[in-house]
Amino acid sequence: MINVLFAAKPERWVEYETPLKDALEAAGVTANVQTKFAPEEVDYIVYAPNSAVQDFTPYTRCKAVLNLWAGVESIVGNKTLTMPLCRMVDPGMTQGMKEWVVGHVMRHHLGMDRNILGQNGDWTPHVPPLAQDRRVTIMGLGELGSACAEALRDLGFDVAGWSRRAKDITGVTCLHGDDGLKTALARADILVLLLPKTAATENLLNAERLSWMPKGAMIVNPGRGPLIDDDALLGALNSGHIAHATLDVFRVEPLPKDHPYWAYPNVTVTPHIASETRTKTSSEVVAENVRRGEVGEPFVHVVDRGAGY
Ligand code: NDP
Repeated sequence: MINVLFAAKPERWVEYETPLKDALEAAGVTANVQTKFAPEEVDYIVYAPNSAVQDFTPYTRCKAVLNLWAGVESIVGNKTLTMPLCRMVDPGMTQGMKEWVVGHVMRHHLGMDRNILGQNGDWTPHVPPLAQDRRVTIMGLGELGSACAEALRDLGFDVAGWSRRAKDITGVTCLHGDDGLKTALARADILVLLLPKTAATENLLNAERLSWMPKGAMIVNPGRGPLIDDDALLGALNSGHIAHATLDVFRVEPLPKDHPYWAYPNVTVTPHIASETRTKTSSEVVAENVRRGEVGEPFVHVVDRGAGY
């Protein structure tokens, strides 16, 4: 019998207790799953940000920390974490992100606001271009970015993506590294940010790089708030260089009530809901890694601590 510590806020335990126990059983793992153990008796830690566990030193027997979230910025730099760290790659979350990104890109592509909000007797047709004439760039071609790129490609959009290393995705123009950055931004009528927050991606979208984007471009950010220099974005919105920003993530969450973003008509704020980790599918991912650990197979979705994601 192994011990799996669920180290997250109590309300998560209410959601996860049954699916996690079911998933472990279905994976053929006999485990005690609890929110409290003596640290030296713990074999795996299922972790979510804001957990009470911050010092991993006493967890001497622990074989892996299994993060419930895709983003690992709150834990990856923890010096006491010497065991493998696995992040969440959850089919349910990927599906949710595809739906959210496609929805918000379509809103901007079709100019839905103009037609839905402008019910004032003004009959001025604004016919949107076809998807094939709209260039969308996805920054980040990982689990989520590549799924969104493929979904938008399948709708007919002219899609490019940008990543750290070279990629090959059918029907998507794949750019990478410093060399590809300017090309990626310069063709972005609609820019979707699906990068992790790391030292290398913080403030990626600064004033200079925003100026590389086409005038009137739109930004959709379900990645992380610090990817954007907020003052630079507000400046670009003020000048009209950027027409609209749909922002799901922020440096400080909840976004403070007096933050200028709330007052901008051409900013849409959503409260970090682009895609949640789904309890059933993510429990299955956790259980699979525990199973792997127990039979000596390599863990999946192991975080590259040097790269920070
Ligand atoms: P992945 O790790 O699978 O993908 C990350 C992508 O970013 C990869 O393509 C990677 O390049 C690229 N990348 C990382 N650093 C750089 C860099 N310095 N320069 C260029 N490209 C870089 O992550 P996911 O797709 O699973 O998730 C992406 C992010 O989405 C998460 O980190 C999280 O912040 C956010 N997220 C937001 C949610 C929400 O509800 N708003 C929900 C879930 C996730 P390469 O392929 O070369 O490694």
